[in-house]
Amino acid sequence: MATALITGASQGIGACIAKRLAKDGFNVVINHYPSDGDKEKAEAVAEECRAFGVKAECYAADVSKYEDCEAMVKAAKADFGTIDALVNNAGITKDALLARMKETDYDTVIAVNQKSVFNMMKLVCSVMMRQKHGRIVNVASVAGLYGNPGQVNYSASKAAIIGMTKSVAKEYGSRNITCNAVAPGLIRTPMTDVLSDELKAKMIEAVALRRYGEPEEIASVVSFLVSDDASYVSGQVIEISGGLSM
Ligand code: NAP
Repeated sequence: MATALITGASQGIGACIAKRLAKDGFNVVINHYPSDGDKEKAEAVAEECRAFGVKAECYAADVSKYEDCEAMVKAAKADFGTIDALVNNAGITKDALLARMKETDYDTVIAVNQKSVFNMMKLVCSVMMRQKHGRIVNVASVAGLYGNPGQVNYSASKAAIIGMTKSVAKEYGSRNITCNAVAPGLIRTPMTDVLSDELKAKMIEAVALRRYGEPEEIASVVSFLVSDDASYVSGQVIEISGGLSM
């Protein structure tokens, strides 16, 4: 049975991807931030995954830290045998207009959203190379494609992920490893719950489908990208935004 590792999978889009891949028949490695609250939520996600008859285990790791990622990948490889799919989903926002953005808020968002993808791809690609097979999906954002006021740090991190995705696709294609990105628009998760009703309404006005996306609508595209049906798709960015920008 193939194994998928999903970062930041204790809630939101990551939890939904873990459950969808479990439903698809993957054993799942559920990463969560090292806190008691995240551990509890991740355990509940793992329980739901196991209901599909697959193996599911939780691993605490702050993915912005290389040593945490190294320990997690080593443990997951020992426990599961292979890592066939990697979904780099963990992400945060620390929004402010450029003039008011603190340097620490810039650095933290880059470390969590971007450096984590370097950490995880570097470690997991070496496993996948030996397997001569692998699927990587990086969760970017429409902010990385088009920019967003108040999100210089976040859009920089997500634009970087897109460049990294294309570079890794070119570096590892000959080893039968595909690397793609998804760029979600406005998706209903704890990350967007905090936005004001006024801002949400304004953002939805710009969406052709005139509604939020649901985490399941991201998970279904990720499910395709890690499947055999996507065997000739690599280095691509799939926007999942209900027609936000056309
Ligand atoms: P979310 O509900 O806040 O989930 C993000 C998850 O990542 C949380 O479980 C979070 O744990 C975890 N995480 C944060 N920092 C971490 C770290 N250093 N190490 C390990 N895990 C960490 O947000 P979401 O909306 O599901 O977002 C998932 C991904 O989609 C993110 O990359 C986000 O940028 C992207 N995205 C979301 C939207 C949207 O509209 N929701 C749109 C475009 C892209 P904590 O709760 O402890 O922080």
